[in-house]
Amino acid sequence: MSDDIKKYTEYCLNCPVKPCSVKGCPLNNDIPTFIKLTKEGNLKEAYRILSETTVLPAICGRICPHEKQCQGKCVRGIKGEPVSIGKIEAYIADEALKNENSLKEAWQEEMERPYKDGIEKLINKEENEISYKEEIENINKTKKVSVIGSGPSGLTCAAFLRKYGIEVTIFEKYNSLGGILRRGIPEFRLSKDILDKTIAQILNLGIDVKYGMELGKNLSLDDLKKEYDAIYLAIGANVPTGMKILGEELNGVYGANTLLEIGNHPDYTNKNVAVIGGGNVAMDAARTINRMGAKSVKVIYRRAEEQMPAERKEIADAKEEGVEFLFQTNIKKVLGKDRVEKIECIKMDLVQKEGETRLSPVEIPNSNYEMPIDYVIMAVGAKTEEENLKKENVELTERKYVKINENYETSIDTVFAGGDLVGSTATVAWAARDGRNAAYIIKNYI
Ligand SMILES: Cc1cc2nc3c(=O)[nH]c(=O)nc-3n(C[C@H](O)[C@H](O)[C@H](O)COP(=O)(O)OP(=O)(O)OC[C@H]3O[C@@H](n4cnc5c(N)ncnc54)[C@H](O)[C@@H]3O)c2cc1C
Ligand code: SF4
Repeated sequence: MSDDIKKYTEYCLNCPVKPCSVKGCPLNNDIPTFIKLTKEGNLKEAYRILSETTVLPAICGRICPHEKQCQGKCVRGIKGEPVSIGKIEAYIADEALKNENSLKEAWQEEMERPYKDGIEKLINKEENEISYKEEIENINKTKKVSVIGSGPSGLTCAAFLRKYGIEVTIFEKYNSLGGILRRGIPEFRLSKDILDKTIAQILNLGIDVKYGMELGKNLSLDDLKKEYDAIYLAIGANVPTGMKILGEELNGVYGANTLLEIGNHPDYTNKNVAVIGGGNVAMDAARTINRMGAKSVKVIYRRAEEQMPAERKEIADAKEEGVEFLFQTNIKKVLGKDRVEKIECIKMDLVQKEGETRLSPVEIPNSNYEMPIDYVIMAVGAKTEEENLKKENVELTERKYVKINENYETSIDTVFAGGDLVGSTATVAWAARDGRNAAYIIKNYI
């Protein structure tokens, strides 16, 4: 164990009321217990404790917004720095990833339970006319569930369903798994090696995968319903929303989510790029493009720096890498003949409006100005695949998310849904929480 990790574990007060777990962590990971076990050098048990609530600890340990989640509720943070919970979690998980069957081993007892239950029933049975093997197979006849989408929500649901002895098949439109973890969050924040090893742990539980299967194209809920006892729908909400401003249709305007998802970037050499938005997607797009050799990358955000939804660390890292920020500025038009040549911006004031909790941006009259720009990247929000969902007759909310009840049930019988698709707080841990909790409900349902 490194001196740093040792120091972090010793700094934890092991609070009996566990505010970090109960109030801070969306997955309710038992943080004080895994920290205590790590301090005692019992990493195997620390990982087992983590695995009770999550299958993505190496990922969450790195990219969760800890300052808003667990570390934001840490008692140590009241008067000083919170415990570095994320770093401890990632350390435990990285050690576990060295053995590709760690998750299977951590869950072994529970995974064998259906089999053991079967034997017990067999022993208690008086007449034994059919063969032992047939009887066990009969008793343990597995139920089948399909999971559509392999982001944090789908992967977590698939893993927990498997833990309950259910046969699981993941249907994914691409030829690789991970969702935004693979096709969104850049390598410099989350390495593909960690992601691949985490996914391998999940698949080693015995999960089947069908690649190149896209709901609304070559896959339908009706067909799946004929074969599976239940379906968990977790296809995310990653279609960029634009700003509906003049010139947005010009060549050289991209949606940040699609750009990061598909990765077909133009050549940015000697080009000036404007990224519109203030969230983590804007930061990832700006930092990625900056690293790809753009001449300049400007983040344009209509409110003040303190109001930016992006993580403080992401903003600081972006600045350090040379990304420029234009706060209290908004884009009005994209200008050019066939492709982007410049943009028109306007300065914004921040005013307190009645009934609003935070300051609202309002345009400062006649403060418009133009700026030469070659590419505009819109990072102002994302939505669900409305057309595909409509084809499947799934009921949507007013904001076009999939409508579910408190049991993750959609309007269609045996079809459940979770993650970004249902408008959950758009973070990995919340999407994973939906997947885990839905798996439990599906197990009891089928
Ligand atoms: C650039 C970016 C950076 C982010 N950074 C962070 C961060 O640092 N920390 C954090 O906690 N959160 C972050 N988030 C948010 C987080 O990634 C999401 O909340 C989370 O991935 C949602 O998980 P999900 O499983 O619901 O959906 P997704 O991860 O979007 O996965 C959906 C899956 O469904 C598949 N799919 C889509 N349509 C279909 C279809 N029709 N048929 C079959 N399969 C389909 C996709 O290919 C994908 O595999 C970020 C998001 C983005 C876009
Ligand atoms: S709140 Fe902080 S100090 Fe208390 S148990 Fe959790 S991590 Fe440790």
